[in-house]
Amino acid sequence: MKSSPRKPGFETLAIHAGQDPEGLTGAVTVPIFQTSTFAQEAVGKNKGYEYGRTGNPTRTALETCLAALEGARWGLAFASGMAASDAVAHLLSKGDHVVMGDDVYGGTYRLFARVFDRAGIDLTAVDMRKLDAVRRAVRSRTKLVWIETPSNPLLKVLDIAALAEIAQKARALAVVDNTFASPYLQRPIKLGADLVLHSTTKYLGGHSDVVGGALAGNDAELRDRLAFVQNAAGGVPGPFDAWLVLRGAKTLGVRMDRHSANAQAIAEWLAEHPKVTRVNYPGLATHPQHALARRQMRAFGGMLSFELRGGETFAKRVAARTKIFALAESLGGVESLVEIPLAMTHGSVRGTKLAPPAGLVRLSVGIETVDDLIDDLAQAIG
Ligand SMILES: *Cc1c(COP(=O)(O)O)cnc(C)c1O
Repeated sequence: MKSSPRKPGFETLAIHAGQDPEGLTGAVTVPIFQTSTFAQEAVGKNKGYEYGRTGNPTRTALETCLAALEGARWGLAFASGMAASDAVAHLLSKGDHVVMGDDVYGGTYRLFARVFDRAGIDLTAVDMRKLDAVRRAVRSRTKLVWIETPSNPLLKVLDIAALAEIAQKARALAVVDNTFASPYLQRPIKLGADLVLHSTTKYLGGHSDVVGGALAGNDAELRDRLAFVQNAAGGVPGPFDAWLVLRGAKTLGVRMDRHSANAQAIAEWLAEHPKVTRVNYPGLATHPQHALARRQMRAFGGMLSFELRGGETFAKRVAARTKIFALAESLGGVESLVEIPLAMTHGSVRGTKLAPPAGLVRLSVGIETVDDLIDDLAQAIG
Protein backbone atom coordinates (compact mmCIF):
# COMPACT_ATOMS: atom_id res chain seq x y z
CA MET A 1 0.00 0.00 0.00
CA LYS A 2 1.27 3.51 -0.81
CA SER A 3 1.76 5.69 2.26
CA SER A 4 -0.91 8.22 3.15
CA PRO A 5 -0.89 10.83 5.95
CA ARG A 6 -4.09 9.48 7.53
CA LYS A 7 -4.39 5.94 8.84
CA PRO A 8 -6.33 3.82 6.34
CA GLY A 9 -9.92 3.01 7.29
CA PHE A 10 -11.41 -0.41 7.95
CA GLU A 11 -12.68 -1.11 4.44
CA THR A 12 -9.35 -0.07 2.90
CA LEU A 13 -7.46 -2.39 5.24
CA ALA A 14 -9.89 -5.22 4.48
CA ILE A 15 -9.08 -4.95 0.78
CA HIS A 16 -5.37 -4.07 0.94
CA ALA A 17 -3.67 -5.05 4.23
CA GLY A 18 -1.21 -7.84 3.50
CA GLN A 19 -2.40 -7.85 -0.11
CA ASP A 20 0.07 -5.83 -2.16
CA PRO A 21 0.22 -6.91 -5.84
CA GLU A 22 2.30 -10.06 -6.09
CA GLY A 23 6.02 -9.48 -6.82
CA LEU A 24 6.62 -11.86 -9.71
CA THR A 25 3.63 -11.15 -11.97
CA GLY A 26 1.82 -8.14 -10.49
CA ALA A 27 -1.29 -10.27 -9.81
CA VAL A 28 -3.69 -7.94 -7.99
CA THR A 29 -5.29 -10.77 -6.05
CA VAL A 30 -3.10 -12.73 -3.63
CA PRO A 31 -2.35 -16.06 -5.36
CA ILE A 32 -3.25 -19.38 -3.78
CA PHE A 33 0.21 -20.79 -3.09
CA GLN A 34 -0.95 -24.38 -3.30
CA THR A 35 2.31 -25.98 -2.25
CA SER A 36 3.43 -27.99 0.75
CA THR A 37 7.11 -27.06 0.60
CA PHE A 38 9.48 -24.33 -0.66
CA ALA A 39 12.83 -24.84 -2.40
CA GLN A 40 15.85 -23.50 -0.51
CA GLU A 41 18.83 -21.88 -2.23
CA ALA A 42 21.23 -23.41 0.26
CA VAL A 43 20.71 -25.17 3.57
CA GLY A 44 19.13 -22.59 5.88
CA LYS A 45 18.88 -19.98 3.07
CA ASN A 46 15.27 -19.44 1.95
CA LYS A 47 12.74 -16.71 1.14
CA GLY A 48 11.00 -16.94 4.51
CA TYR A 49 9.10 -20.15 3.85
CA GLU A 50 10.20 -23.74 4.36
CA TYR A 51 7.29 -26.09 4.99
CA GLY A 52 3.55 -25.50 4.53
CA ARG A 53 2.48 -26.26 8.10
CA THR A 54 4.92 -23.68 9.42
CA GLY A 55 4.04 -20.98 6.91
CA ASN A 56 2.48 -20.21 3.53
CA PRO A 57 2.31 -16.82 1.73
CA THR A 58 -1.47 -16.97 1.21
CA ARG A 59 -1.88 -17.65 4.94
CA THR A 60 0.55 -14.83 5.77
CA ALA A 61 -1.59 -12.41 3.73
CA LEU A 62 -4.67 -13.49 5.68
CA GLU A 63 -2.88 -13.23 9.04
CA THR A 64 -1.64 -9.73 8.21
CA CYS A 65 -5.09 -8.63 7.08
CA LEU A 66 -6.87 -10.04 10.16
CA ALA A 67 -4.38 -8.34 12.49
CA ALA A 68 -5.01 -5.01 10.72
CA LEU A 69 -8.79 -5.43 10.98
CA GLU A 70 -8.60 -6.13 14.71
CA GLY A 71 -6.17 -3.25 15.29
CA ALA A 72 -3.70 -5.86 16.58
CA ARG A 73 0.04 -6.32 15.98
CA TRP A 74 -0.21 -9.93 14.87
CA GLY A 75 -2.68 -12.52 13.62
CA LEU A 76 -2.56 -16.30 13.30
CA ALA A 77 -4.87 -18.35 11.09
CA PHE A 78 -6.17 -21.81 12.00
CA ALA A 79 -8.07 -24.65 10.35
CA SER A 80 -11.24 -23.84 12.33
CA GLY A 81 -12.48 -21.71 15.19
CA MET A 82 -12.08 -24.74 17.45
CA ALA A 83 -8.45 -25.23 16.30
CA ALA A 84 -7.82 -21.60 17.36
CA SER A 85 -9.53 -22.25 20.74
CA ASP A 86 -7.52 -25.45 21.13
CA ALA A 87 -4.28 -23.48 20.61
CA VAL A 88 -5.30 -21.05 23.37
CA ALA A 89 -6.14 -23.96 25.69
CA HIS A 90 -2.67 -25.36 25.01
CA LEU A 91 -1.17 -22.32 26.76
CA LEU A 92 -2.43 -23.79 30.06
CA SER A 93 -0.85 -26.30 32.43
CA LYS A 94 -2.22 -28.86 34.85
CA GLY A 95 -3.95 -27.14 37.78
CA ASP A 96 -4.72 -23.94 35.85
CA HIS A 97 -8.24 -22.54 35.95
CA VAL A 98 -10.51 -20.93 33.34
CA VAL A 99 -13.44 -18.59 33.96
CA MET A 100 -15.96 -18.61 31.13
CA GLY A 101 -19.39 -17.14 30.43
CA ASP A 102 -22.40 -19.38 31.04
CA ASP A 103 -23.70 -18.78 27.50
CA VAL A 104 -20.87 -19.66 25.15
CA TYR A 105 -20.59 -21.56 21.89
CA GLY A 106 -21.30 -25.19 22.83
CA GLY A 107 -18.07 -26.45 21.28
CA THR A 108 -15.99 -24.06 23.39
CA TYR A 109 -17.57 -25.37 26.58
CA ARG A 110 -17.11 -28.95 25.36
CA LEU A 111 -13.41 -28.37 24.62
CA PHE A 112 -12.68 -27.25 28.18
CA ALA A 113 -15.22 -29.43 30.03
CA ARG A 114 -14.58 -32.69 28.16
CA VAL A 115 -11.13 -32.53 26.56
CA PHE A 116 -8.92 -30.27 28.68
CA ASP A 117 -10.52 -31.47 31.94
CA ARG A 118 -8.45 -34.62 31.40
CA ALA A 119 -5.32 -32.47 31.29
CA GLY A 120 -6.24 -31.16 34.76
CA ILE A 121 -7.61 -27.77 33.66
CA ASP A 122 -10.45 -26.51 35.90
CA LEU A 123 -13.41 -24.58 34.55
CA THR A 124 -15.98 -22.27 36.15
CA ALA A 125 -18.90 -20.97 34.07
CA VAL A 126 -20.58 -17.82 35.38
CA ASP A 127 -23.04 -15.19 34.20
CA MET A 128 -20.43 -12.67 33.10
CA ARG A 129 -22.96 -9.85 33.03
CA LYS A 130 -22.46 -9.89 36.80
CA LEU A 131 -18.95 -8.55 37.33
CA ASP A 132 -18.94 -9.47 41.03
CA ALA A 133 -19.70 -13.09 40.14
CA VAL A 134 -16.67 -13.03 37.82
CA ARG A 135 -14.47 -11.51 40.56
CA ARG A 136 -15.64 -14.23 42.97
CA ALA A 137 -14.95 -16.98 40.41
CA VAL A 138 -11.34 -15.89 39.89
CA ARG A 139 -8.73 -17.95 41.80
CA SER A 140 -4.97 -17.76 42.21
CA ARG A 141 -4.58 -20.29 39.38
CA THR A 142 -6.98 -18.54 36.99
CA LYS A 143 -5.07 -18.08 33.74
CA LEU A 144 -7.86 -17.41 31.24
CA VAL A 145 -11.00 -15.31 31.28
CA TRP A 146 -13.04 -16.36 28.25
CA ILE A 147 -15.40 -13.64 27.03
CA GLU A 148 -17.91 -14.31 24.25
CA THR A 149 -20.00 -11.28 23.34
CA PRO A 150 -22.63 -11.02 22.03
CA SER A 151 -23.16 -14.53 23.30
CA ASN A 152 -24.50 -17.53 21.45
CA PRO A 153 -27.48 -18.12 21.38
CA LEU A 154 -28.95 -15.69 23.96
CA LEU A 155 -27.22 -12.52 22.68
CA LYS A 156 -26.09 -11.46 26.14
CA VAL A 157 -23.72 -8.50 25.88
CA LEU A 158 -20.67 -8.47 28.15
CA ASP A 159 -18.57 -5.49 29.21
CA ILE A 160 -15.23 -6.26 27.54
CA ALA A 161 -13.29 -3.39 29.16
CA ALA A 162 -14.49 -4.25 32.69
CA LEU A 163 -13.85 -7.99 32.26
CA ALA A 164 -10.40 -7.38 30.74
CA GLU A 165 -9.54 -5.30 33.80
CA ILE A 166 -10.62 -8.11 36.14
CA ALA A 167 -8.48 -10.53 34.13
CA GLN A 168 -5.49 -8.20 34.16
CA LYS A 169 -5.68 -7.79 37.96
CA ALA A 170 -5.73 -11.58 38.27
CA ARG A 171 -2.80 -11.88 35.82
CA ALA A 172 -5.03 -13.96 33.59
CA LEU A 173 -5.38 -13.56 29.83
CA ALA A 174 -8.60 -11.95 28.61
CA VAL A 175 -9.72 -13.76 25.45
CA VAL A 176 -12.65 -12.39 23.45
CA ASP A 177 -14.52 -14.61 21.01
CA ASN A 178 -15.43 -11.90 18.50
CA THR A 179 -17.16 -14.24 16.03
CA PHE A 180 -20.69 -12.79 16.35
CA ALA A 181 -19.69 -9.13 16.10
CA SER A 182 -16.72 -9.38 13.69
CA PRO A 183 -13.95 -6.74 13.86
CA TYR A 184 -16.15 -4.34 11.88
CA LEU A 185 -18.59 -4.00 14.78
CA GLN A 186 -16.33 -4.53 17.79
CA ARG A 187 -12.59 -4.15 18.49
CA PRO A 188 -11.73 -5.99 21.72
CA ILE A 189 -7.97 -5.25 21.67
CA LYS A 190 -8.67 -1.53 22.02
CA LEU A 191 -10.92 -2.36 24.98
CA GLY A 192 -8.08 -4.15 26.78
CA ALA A 193 -8.38 -7.77 25.65
CA ASP A 194 -5.16 -9.78 25.26
CA LEU A 195 -6.45 -12.08 22.54
CA VAL A 196 -9.24 -12.00 19.99
CA LEU A 197 -10.57 -15.27 18.63
CA HIS A 198 -12.64 -15.90 15.49
CA SER A 199 -14.44 -18.65 13.80
CA THR A 200 -13.70 -17.19 10.34
CA THR A 201 -16.22 -19.78 9.11
CA LYS A 202 -18.83 -17.17 10.02
CA TYR A 203 -18.85 -13.44 9.14
CA LEU A 204 -15.20 -13.09 8.07
CA GLY A 205 -15.58 -15.83 5.45
CA GLY A 206 -19.16 -14.69 5.01
CA HIS A 207 -20.34 -17.07 2.28
CA SER A 208 -20.78 -20.43 4.06
CA ASP A 209 -18.08 -21.99 1.88
CA VAL A 210 -15.11 -22.42 4.24
CA VAL A 211 -14.25 -23.53 7.79
CA GLY A 212 -11.52 -21.50 9.48
CA GLY A 213 -10.35 -19.80 12.65
CA ALA A 214 -8.03 -17.05 13.80
CA LEU A 215 -6.34 -15.38 16.75
CA ALA A 216 -5.04 -11.83 17.00
CA GLY A 217 -3.21 -9.88 19.70
CA ASN A 218 -0.46 -7.39 20.51
CA ASP A 219 1.96 -9.20 22.82
CA ALA A 220 4.96 -10.61 20.91
CA GLU A 221 5.78 -13.31 23.45
CA LEU A 222 2.18 -14.53 23.39
CA ARG A 223 2.36 -14.63 19.59
CA ASP A 224 5.49 -16.76 19.74
CA ARG A 225 3.90 -19.21 22.18
CA LEU A 226 0.78 -19.51 20.02
CA ALA A 227 2.72 -19.77 16.76
CA PHE A 228 4.74 -22.55 18.39
CA VAL A 229 1.49 -24.43 19.20
CA GLN A 230 0.11 -23.69 15.72
CA ASN A 231 3.17 -25.34 14.17
CA ALA A 232 3.62 -28.07 16.79
CA ALA A 233 -0.03 -29.20 16.84
CA GLY A 234 -0.62 -28.34 13.17
CA GLY A 235 -4.20 -27.03 13.10
CA VAL A 236 -3.48 -24.81 10.09
CA PRO A 237 -5.74 -23.80 7.18
CA GLY A 238 -4.88 -24.91 3.66
CA PRO A 239 -3.89 -22.19 1.15
CA PHE A 240 -7.26 -22.25 -0.65
CA ASP A 241 -9.18 -21.97 2.64
CA ALA A 242 -6.96 -19.05 3.68
CA TRP A 243 -7.68 -17.41 0.31
CA LEU A 244 -11.46 -17.84 0.69
CA VAL A 245 -11.41 -16.10 4.08
CA LEU A 246 -9.20 -13.34 2.66
CA ARG A 247 -11.68 -12.79 -0.17
CA GLY A 248 -14.64 -12.83 2.22
CA ALA A 249 -13.01 -10.27 4.51
CA LYS A 250 -12.84 -7.72 1.67
CA THR A 251 -16.62 -7.16 1.83
CA LEU A 252 -17.03 -7.55 5.60
CA GLY A 253 -17.94 -3.90 6.21
CA VAL A 254 -20.73 -3.64 3.64
CA ARG A 255 -22.09 -7.05 4.59
CA MET A 256 -22.17 -6.26 8.33
CA ASP A 257 -24.04 -3.00 7.68
CA ARG A 258 -26.73 -4.92 5.78
CA HIS A 259 -26.81 -7.87 8.21
CA SER A 260 -27.33 -5.38 11.05
CA ALA A 261 -30.04 -3.37 9.28
CA ASN A 262 -31.95 -6.52 8.29
CA ALA A 263 -31.69 -8.05 11.77
CA GLN A 264 -32.86 -4.81 13.39
CA ALA A 265 -35.96 -4.72 11.16
CA ILE A 266 -36.73 -8.39 11.84
CA ALA A 267 -36.19 -8.03 15.60
CA GLU A 268 -38.60 -5.08 15.68
CA TRP A 269 -41.16 -7.01 13.62
CA LEU A 270 -40.88 -10.11 15.86
CA ALA A 271 -41.19 -8.00 19.02
CA GLU A 272 -44.64 -6.86 17.80
CA HIS A 273 -45.83 -10.34 16.79
CA PRO A 274 -48.60 -11.75 19.05
CA LYS A 275 -47.16 -15.31 18.95
CA VAL A 276 -43.65 -14.19 19.96
CA THR A 277 -43.00 -14.07 23.72
CA ARG A 278 -39.39 -12.88 23.75
CA VAL A 279 -36.80 -11.47 21.32
CA ASN A 280 -33.07 -11.37 22.12
CA TYR A 281 -31.35 -8.70 20.01
CA PRO A 282 -28.90 -6.10 21.36
CA GLY A 283 -30.29 -3.47 18.95
CA LEU A 284 -33.68 -3.42 20.69
CA ALA A 285 -34.05 -0.66 23.29
CA THR A 286 -35.63 -3.33 25.54
CA HIS A 287 -32.45 -5.46 25.52
CA PRO A 288 -31.03 -5.35 29.09
CA GLN A 289 -27.54 -4.35 27.86
CA HIS A 290 -28.65 -2.11 25.00
CA ALA A 291 -26.71 0.88 26.37
CA LEU A 292 -23.52 -1.18 26.76
CA ALA A 293 -23.94 -2.60 23.25
CA ARG A 294 -24.26 0.95 21.91
CA ARG A 295 -21.01 1.93 23.62
CA GLN A 296 -19.07 -1.15 22.66
CA MET A 297 -20.35 -1.95 19.15
CA ARG A 298 -20.68 0.02 15.91
CA ALA A 299 -23.98 -1.73 15.09
CA PHE A 300 -25.71 -4.79 16.55
CA GLY A 301 -24.99 -7.55 14.04
CA GLY A 302 -27.01 -10.17 12.20
CA MET A 303 -27.77 -12.67 14.97
CA LEU A 304 -30.93 -12.83 17.03
CA SER A 305 -32.98 -15.41 18.90
CA PHE A 306 -36.61 -15.57 19.99
CA GLU A 307 -39.20 -17.68 21.78
CA LEU A 308 -42.75 -18.46 20.72
CA ARG A 309 -46.02 -19.22 22.43
CA GLY A 310 -46.34 -22.96 21.94
CA GLY A 311 -42.76 -23.67 23.00
CA GLU A 312 -40.46 -26.32 21.56
CA THR A 313 -42.97 -28.18 19.37
CA PHE A 314 -44.18 -25.03 17.65
CA ALA A 315 -40.64 -23.64 17.38
CA LYS A 316 -39.50 -26.77 15.52
CA ARG A 317 -42.49 -26.53 13.21
CA VAL A 318 -41.75 -22.88 12.41
CA ALA A 319 -38.07 -23.67 11.75
CA ALA A 320 -39.09 -26.40 9.28
CA ARG A 321 -41.64 -24.16 7.50
CA THR A 322 -39.41 -21.27 6.47
CA LYS A 323 -38.53 -21.21 2.77
CA ILE A 324 -35.80 -18.58 2.43
CA PHE A 325 -34.29 -19.20 5.88
CA ALA A 326 -32.57 -22.59 5.48
CA LEU A 327 -32.81 -24.88 8.51
CA ALA A 328 -29.09 -25.29 9.19
CA GLU A 329 -26.32 -24.92 11.75
CA SER A 330 -23.63 -22.24 11.42
CA LEU A 331 -24.13 -18.52 10.84
CA GLY A 332 -22.65 -15.39 9.35
CA GLY A 333 -23.14 -16.14 5.65
CA VAL A 334 -24.93 -13.96 3.11
CA GLU A 335 -27.90 -16.36 3.21
CA SER A 336 -30.38 -16.47 6.10
CA LEU A 337 -30.42 -19.50 8.38
CA VAL A 338 -32.75 -20.70 11.15
CA GLU A 339 -32.08 -23.31 13.81
CA ILE A 340 -33.18 -24.64 17.21
CA PRO A 341 -29.99 -24.30 19.35
CA LEU A 342 -30.71 -26.98 21.96
CA ALA A 343 -31.49 -29.58 19.30
CA MET A 344 -28.68 -28.51 16.96
CA THR A 345 -25.66 -26.25 17.65
CA HIS A 346 -25.89 -26.50 21.44
CA GLY A 347 -26.59 -30.24 21.83
CA SER A 348 -23.27 -30.53 23.68
CA VAL A 349 -24.59 -28.43 26.61
CA ARG A 350 -27.92 -30.28 26.98
CA GLY A 351 -28.51 -31.14 30.65
CA THR A 352 -25.96 -28.56 31.89
CA LYS A 353 -26.70 -25.11 33.29
CA LEU A 354 -25.56 -23.69 29.95
CA ALA A 355 -28.51 -25.26 28.11
CA PRO A 356 -30.65 -22.67 26.27
CA PRO A 357 -34.48 -22.88 26.44
CA ALA A 358 -35.71 -25.87 24.36
CA GLY A 359 -38.06 -23.63 22.35
CA LEU A 360 -35.48 -20.99 21.49
CA VAL A 361 -35.23 -20.23 17.75
CA ARG A 362 -31.97 -18.67 16.48
CA LEU A 363 -31.75 -16.69 13.26
CA SER A 364 -28.65 -15.81 11.30
CA VAL A 365 -30.12 -12.96 9.27
CA GLY A 366 -28.61 -12.78 5.80
CA ILE A 367 -28.40 -9.91 3.34
CA GLU A 368 -31.39 -10.83 1.17
CA THR A 369 -34.19 -8.28 0.64
CA VAL A 370 -35.51 -7.73 4.15
CA ASP A 371 -39.21 -7.68 3.14
CA ASP A 372 -38.80 -11.17 1.67
CA LEU A 373 -37.28 -12.35 4.95
CA ILE A 374 -40.13 -10.88 6.99
CA ASP A 375 -42.73 -12.39 4.63
CA ASP A 376 -41.02 -15.77 5.03
CA LEU A 377 -41.14 -15.59 8.85
CA ALA A 378 -44.75 -14.37 8.70
CA GLN A 379 -45.89 -17.40 6.70
CA ALA A 380 -43.87 -19.79 8.89
CA ILE A 381 -45.20 -18.44 12.20
CA GLY A 382 -48.70 -18.06 10.72
C1 LIG B 1 -18.77 -21.50 15.15
C2 LIG B 1 -18.22 -20.88 16.37
C3 LIG B 1 -17.04 -21.35 16.96
C4 LIG B 1 -16.29 -22.56 16.43
O1 LIG B 1 -15.77 -22.33 15.17
P1 LIG B 1 -15.59 -23.46 14.03
O2 LIG B 1 -15.07 -22.70 12.87
O3 LIG B 1 -16.93 -24.09 13.80
O4 LIG B 1 -14.61 -24.46 14.57
C5 LIG B 1 -16.55 -20.67 18.07
N1 LIG B 1 -17.21 -19.61 18.60
C6 LIG B 1 -18.35 -19.15 18.06
C7 LIG B 1 -19.03 -17.98 18.69
C8 LIG B 1 -18.91 -19.76 16.95
O5 LIG B 1 -20.05 -19.32 16.43
